[in-house]
Amino acid sequence: MRCPWCGHPDDKVVDSRSAEGGASVRRRRECLRCGRRFTTFERLEEVSLSVVKRDGSKEPFDRSKVVAGLMKAIKNRPVSEKQVSQLVDRVEEKLRRKAPVVTTQEVGVEVLTLLRRLDDVAYLRFASVYKDFQELTDFERELGILLPKREPAESADGRRGPRGSRMRAKR
Ligand SMILES: [Zn+2]
Repeated sequence: MRCPWCGHPDDKVVDSRSAEGGASVRRRRECLRCGRRFTTFERLEEVSLSVVKRDGSKEPFDRSKVVAGLMKAIKNRPVSEKQVSQLVDRVEEKLRRKAPVVTTQEVGVEVLTLLRRLDDVAYLRFASVYKDFQELTDFERELGILLPKREPAESADGRRGPRGSRMRAKR
């Protein structure tokens, strides 16, 4: 790294530590010519991630949209904002492994898979309002993928779907 004081191209690292909660590495460097010190931060290169919608249009992955959808889903539910934030972290991490392009469907399924472990009601709300589940068949297909993991007790009452059993439980 070129010295900001004298422009010399060589330095030595005198200290190196994790920063920003592990998202970067902070290095204290000392110029080999003038001996002055300066700091550099090393971060993971941001890999672009795009989401393809059903109509074929593409837009950059927007974490805040996922968070907004989740905040609606957890309203009056015992799920904290911190849990939502952690959930979205994990979703984003998974999606970035599939980068540069994922589908809205993939985003939805990743969210639902994790949300289901947190809260059943929030899970169903998210599934039913999630933009990509416009068609009921999609919704039911995704539920079909996820539902077999349910507690055995729940299948004993001949449920037709989570919506039915949940309503029944409420009455
Ligand atoms: Zn220097």
